[in-house]
Amino acid sequence: KEEVNIISGALDLRKKKVLDVMTKLKDCFMLPITSVLDFETMSEIVKSGYSRIPVYEGNRTNIITVLFIKDLAFVDPDDNTPLRTLCQYYQNPCNFVFEDVTLDVMLKQFKEGHKGHMAFVQRIEEGEGDPVYETIGLVTLEDVIEEMIQAEIVDE
Ligand code: ADP
Repeated sequence: KEEVNIISGALDLRKKKVLDVMTKLKDCFMLPITSVLDFETMSEIVKSGYSRIPVYEGNRTNIITVLFIKDLAFVDPDDNTPLRTLCQYYQNPCNFVFEDVTLDVMLKQFKEGHKGHMAFVQRIEEGEGDPVYETIGLVTLEDVIEEMIQAEIVDE
């Protein structure tokens, strides 16, 4: 039964898009680049439980980098380090994909690894003039694997 589920889940990856499995931007735990890594902010980050935190400038749709929890290893909350300083040091790139990318393509890209296991989902807003890209969510390898095995992965 479970094997059948996994096989049909794997076959269905071609039919589903990142839009269907992403975490919506409004539900994402993110930080403004203007944050200060004081005790309060660092506690919130740890409490969120996420290992990667998108960092935005101005508007939440304007994601400029990603903070990895491991980047905080040498940060002392008493130093009140600006997040910007840390982000400039690590310069973790962000990976963007369009909302209609199918999950088999997404899985292949995650497997290749060089762009990391998280991607920001973008929509093209057609209007007058140049098209504008809007970020609408994020997708990780876990979201794709859950679709493949047709089950939730319970995080510790
Ligand atoms: P983590 O290692 O941080 O637990 P995973 O890649 O295992 O992240 O993803 C677990 C789930 O959490 C996925 O559904 C993913 O879309 C979502 N997720 C990952 N990072 C964030 C974040 N910063 N804010 C909100 N949801 C997130």
